[in-house]
Amino acid sequence: MAAPTGNVMDRIVALCKRRGFIFQSSEIYGGINGFWDYGPLGVELKRNIKDAWWKDMVQDREDMVGLDCSIIMHPQVWKCSGHFDLFSDMMVDCKACKARFRADQLNDMQCPMKPSKHPGEHDKCQLTEPREFNLMLETYPGPIKDEANRAFLRPETAQGIFVNFKNICDSTRIKVPFGIAQVGKSFRNEITPRNFTFRSREFEQMEIEFFCHPSESNKWYEYWRDARFNWYTSLGLASNKLRLREHGKEELSHYSCGTSDIEYAFPFLAEGDFGELEGVAHRGDFDLRSHMEGKLVNKDGQLVVDLGPDGKPKWKGSGKDLSYFDDERKERFIPHVIEPSAGADRGTLAFICEAYTVDESRPSPELMKFHPRLAPIKAAFFPLVNKDGLPEIAEPIYREVRKRWPVQYDAKASIGKRYARMDEAGTPYCFTIDGQTKEDGTVTVRDRDTGAQERIDKSRVVEYLTEKLAR
Ligand code: ATP
Repeated sequence: MAAPTGNVMDRIVALCKRRGFIFQSSEIYGGINGFWDYGPLGVELKRNIKDAWWKDMVQDREDMVGLDCSIIMHPQVWKCSGHFDLFSDMMVDCKACKARFRADQLNDMQCPMKPSKHPGEHDKCQLTEPREFNLMLETYPGPIKDEANRAFLRPETAQGIFVNFKNICDSTRIKVPFGIAQVGKSFRNEITPRNFTFRSREFEQMEIEFFCHPSESNKWYEYWRDARFNWYTSLGLASNKLRLREHGKEELSHYSCGTSDIEYAFPFLAEGDFGELEGVAHRGDFDLRSHMEGKLVNKDGQLVVDLGPDGKPKWKGSGKDLSYFDDERKERFIPHVIEPSAGADRGTLAFICEAYTVDESRPSPELMKFHPRLAPIKAAFFPLVNKDGLPEIAEPIYREVRKRWPVQYDAKASIGKRYARMDEAGTPYCFTIDGQTKEDGTVTVRDRDTGAQERIDKSRVVEYLTEKLAR
């Protein structure tokens, strides 16, 4: 097979479609901008990423509990969180081509009009003044579609955690410092979705809100920033393509005392550029306080939302006491919060980009070097030929291993083609049952990354995989 040509990102997108990792949503109708579907391999990969996160962040820790909240919540949640007033991007329209752009992304946008109809350069005289565009998607639960029934699809999972803080303290024996974790869909009406799944309108987040005593919050902020960075490298993201970027003061959100982004050098970005995978933010007591008091104040105590005509904050909080009494300290306080907020789709895309490898010395040069924990298929079993008693030996081995891991059986096509298919799917180990198996009971096992083969006794296959997959 010839070496693949074209730019790396185009080849990754093509492989994702060809092998069933990611498809455009509603493709048979021409697609819908900003929405994506995960095919059979993609859904396993993304699930493995979410499962790894859940196991490492929730199940293996004694200071974390999980939660699964509804996507549509009481509209007041978004008023008190600040999203209703503040969650917007600046948007500009091009008068010539009528296209809409995010003001801060103008330089790298392409004009959708043909060059003959439009110069393609959005110099200021053709653009409208930037104006705010709220990113929350609206919906109207119930039979009447009016203002009173307007609700929003959540733009982040975090607020569901804050509004359940008291429920969790009351229903479990967990004590501050502790975290609440949630994985789920979020929606943002992005002005210009782009870069494959990187910026979508529907996406999944994996978020933690970690509650601690204010005096310990800086220590926990540093802890989570480093722990989250190391999580990505432990699953195979190369540390030279990952970086931690501390936000400058001018870049911080109105509530944040410190934020770091974990960023990855995605191949669709210019050389030397990085894109956000996860934000780790020190949010102080902003969220719990806002849901208590309805006052949106920043860390300097300034009101960030207008007062109503009566001089009181426009939006009322829940009025519920969301403070915490610490038995050991004998002290009541509003916990400070550290928020590591990761995107499951951006994570999946980063692991796909990292795994994509071209090895021109192979007959089929494209392969996906997924970490064994993330690989959608863990092993494949091939009788060398589909006769001579080999399937009768191969199938029982396959059936036994299948009880433990997702594995595949393939008896068709040349052995080279079968290896190539598994390399593209990112399967770390392939076992071949051949003539020698009949004589001495050994099978060959081939390593995806090196192509090296060794023979092991067929009775050792489960043991072999147990050891290798635990890496
Ligand atoms: P960006 O600056 O790229 O718009 P953000 O800073 O608004 O991202 P956060 O609000 O911190 O993002 O959301 C946390 C995480 O959720 C991000 O790090 C990212 O992984 C994911 N995420 C946010 N918006 C999108 C989106 N439109 N599509 C896919 N993932 C997203």
